[in-house]
Amino acid sequence: MSSIVAIVGRPNVGKSTFFNRLIQRREAIVDSVSGVTRDRNYGKSEWNGKEFSVIDTGGYIKGSDDVFEGEIRRQVELAIDEADAIVFVVDVTEGITPMDEEVAKLLRKVTKPIFLAVNKVDSGSREKDAFEFYNLGLGEYFTMAGMSGSGTGDLLDALVLALPDAQEPEEDVVELPRFAVVGRPNAGKSSFINALIGEDRYIVTDIAGTTRDSIDTPYNRFGFEFNLVDTAGIRRKAKVKEDLEFYSVMRSVRAIEHSDVCILMIDATRGFEGQDQSIFWLAEKNRKGIVILVNKWDLVEKETMTTVQFEKKIREMTAPFTDVPIIFTSTITKQRLLKALETAVKVHETRKRRIPTSKFNETMLPIIEQTPPPAIKGKYIKIKYCMQLPTPTPQFVFFANLPQYVKDPYKRYIENKLREIYDFNGVPIDIYFRQK
Ligand code: GDP
Ligand code: GDP
Repeated sequence: MSSIVAIVGRPNVGKSTFFNRLIQRREAIVDSVSGVTRDRNYGKSEWNGKEFSVIDTGGYIKGSDDVFEGEIRRQVELAIDEADAIVFVVDVTEGITPMDEEVAKLLRKVTKPIFLAVNKVDSGSREKDAFEFYNLGLGEYFTMAGMSGSGTGDLLDALVLALPDAQEPEEDVVELPRFAVVGRPNAGKSSFINALIGEDRYIVTDIAGTTRDSIDTPYNRFGFEFNLVDTAGIRRKAKVKEDLEFYSVMRSVRAIEHSDVCILMIDATRGFEGQDQSIFWLAEKNRKGIVILVNKWDLVEKETMTTVQFEKKIREMTAPFTDVPIIFTSTITKQRLLKALETAVKVHETRKRRIPTSKFNETMLPIIEQTPPPAIKGKYIKIKYCMQLPTPTPQFVFFANLPQYVKDPYKRYIENKLREIYDFNGVPIDIYFRQK
């Protein structure tokens, strides 16, 4: 699990410009291969070999000119709760504003690493204007220009030094599948967890090896052993009642990154909406297993809406990754709750599965031979060997003489074949073409 860095600050200081700079390189790679719509406010970044997740908190607030102070305050409070480090961006051309003071006041109480980034320092002459930001009481600041990138390197050097090292899973320990139940407020997550494991979820166990910071708790129910990853939304239920996208996404980030399989609950009476989509892509982007539960199915008039229609709508919203189990549940009538758990276990097993290289070649090479990648500029692409990589999530590499000529449609063809043959339902996979 990588660390989470939140970018906070009032509107127009340059948060999203800085955010885009941070994720640019990686996103460019991801986009060109998957064609997947990306969340504009969440991404992965890397600096000096350290990977971290970045959240642009401002991106979740709409109508940038008339944002309420209260909204910014809650945004910062949540960032303080959920992030490992916070970058507070201010604007040198405007100096300290009352809203900056407000944010600084909240941040001064925090023990997590805080980085004050004085932005829009486009020229040397603005360096001296930055002095006034000492008055925010946050100590040293970094000057930068998010637009050109100048100064951002020093900030990032300091930032990644302050981030905790990624925890390696302990050897020899049989890892239980880690499930995170995620979704918008009111979808029925707590009801689902209650129905599944009862009220004892509040009992904090003192099992050896579970550290105090550990956010998952082991359970054994219906013959399945698993860890349930605590989402902040469940633990600190409804500190605020707002239904803003920001809250559900922000609250899900840590749980999702920490999980193996995300159980995404949606409210059948509301349908699959933008926020559900954001959480879905968050899980997909992190290469987690996904199971979608359409909950409160007891409330849906079966004459007006069928499971087939509902499924079709969800597939439209999650394309191109449509190979995901969808289960219609009710925590009230207990409909298909066990099935939901069973499916999550199955997705976890699929995600861990290793296909032996010889078998894989035997299966895939004839398919490739029959439908090879189309020749480009008279050059024929030959694929002679393939294998699954020993990575935590399924990744497949195909060795070719001219891998650069293999285009997206062919890659999708291979992915579809793989899914057809091997059943990767609910599991994101990666496919690479490399030089032999
Ligand atoms: P956000 O609302 O905090 O996310 O701010 P944006 O990233 O949308 O930037 C607000 C405005 O400031 C945009 O017009 C940007 O082009 C501009 N901006 C961002 N970074 C810089 C910078 O380093 N220098 C200058 N001069 N303008 C910048
Ligand atoms: P959470 O915010 O996602 O944890 O949602 P809750 O579990 O607190 O549920 C929100 C509301 O929806 C509560 O009033 C539940 O009783 C209700 N609810 C949850 N699941 C179902 C369901 O399957 N059917 C019906 N009719 N109501 C449900």
